Amino acid sequence: MRIWFNDLDEKRGPVAELKPHGLKSHGVSLGFGSFSAQVLEQISDASPEDIQLARSLVKSVARSAEIDIPGQSADEWLVQDGGFRIEARYRHDHTLPHEDESLTETCREVIIPLMAAMAELIGYDVVEDPSASLTPEVEGGLSRATVSRRERNPRNRLLCLRIHGAYCGCCGLDPESRYGHAGSILEVHHLEPVSMLEHPRPYDPETDLIPLCPNCHRAVHTRRPWPLTPHELAAYMEEAGHA
Ligand SMILES: [Zn+2]
Ligand SMILES: [Zn+2]
Repeated sequence: MRIWFNDLDEKRGPVAELKPHGLKSHGVSLGFGSFSAQVLEQISDASPEDIQLARSLVKSVARSAEIDIPGQSADEWLVQDGGFRIEARYRHDHTLPHEDESLTETCREVIIPLMAAMAELIGYDVVEDPSASLTPEVEGGLSRATVSRRERNPRNRLLCLRIHGAYCGCCGLDPESRYGHAGSILEVHHLEPVSMLEHPRPYDPETDLIPLCPNCHRAVHTRRPWPLTPHELAAYMEEAGHA
């Protein structure tokens, strides 16, 4: 099974190939087609923040699969040329590799995050909801715009849910168990508007983001410019008798 981006054909961009590996595992090999020069050039323009998110996505795969990036370290890799490869091996302990359930799981746990990492490096634009257009205010407007962009980036959302799990970090709501197929409503919240800190530190998508349900997300942002922390909101909820 081979997977590539719709708008790039198989030869002009990253391709993930899934094969059975031994009796219980899937091997996934991600590489670039032989006419990928244009995409590789785009990738060479990726910002440090894009690179960091891409690396974090790959690292999130390494929590459940064996990852090898030939010739490079798993933490500090860069796509330098068309020879770049990521090899992953994912073991299925409870199902057989040819079952549909196993394929779905390997896609969810390995292929989607790896391809999301590539999409981040290539710089696929985040589709903005025009109705949610930013209204930067004078104080901290720029940093709020940055935070808001991070909160709306679907790759940040994917990473955040993979790391923290698919439930609200304040009230614990698991929307899929409540709303079933309509349950993909968790939003990403950026804990600290990093650029507003007195001593700014680099943004880290693994620790700076938390999934919140839409209600709790609205609630933490009732304080501006600094949002309430999940702890503070939880304390208010307790006071109100809803903890
Ligand atoms: Zn909530
Ligand atoms: Zn937020």
